Amino acid sequence: MGECIFCKIANKEIPSEIIYKDDIIVAFKDINPVAPVHILFIPKVHIDSLNKIGDENKNLIGHMFVKIREIAEKLGIADDGYRVVNNCGSFGGQVVGHIHFHLIGGRQLQWPPG
Ligand code: AMP
Ligand code: ZN
Repeated sequence: MGECIFCKIANKEIPSEIIYKDDIIVAFKDINPVAPVHILFIPKVHIDSLNKIGDENKNLIGHMFVKIREIAEKLGIADDGYRVVNNCGSFGGQVVGHIHFHLIGGRQLQWPPG
């Protein structure tokens, strides 16, 4: 996946403001934030989208959500609440083809999305 920008972020080939990393995931600030807190969580391994998630990824996805919750608490947005978003595919509005979860918070969010 030589051209994938999120693989390059995971491999530190291009810079990002990393908030958290461990053996299997990386969390970094979205370059174009839509709220005071806007962080992207990605697996280090390349997975195209939620369409490619299977039983073999259960631990990875569960781990990711535990870390999303921990970081939401650490950043002080847990009590007020926040949103976790996965855009999947064209109609879902996915632009970067490496699965990622947006953690968005720090202001009142609206619903429904566009
Ligand atoms: P999505 O529409 O779900 O594919 O969202 C992709 C997100 O990646 C957008 O919110 C972009 O602002 C963000 N993004 C794209 N390139 C970078 C980058 N180099 N560093 C941080 N965030 C990025
Ligand atoms: Zn990738």
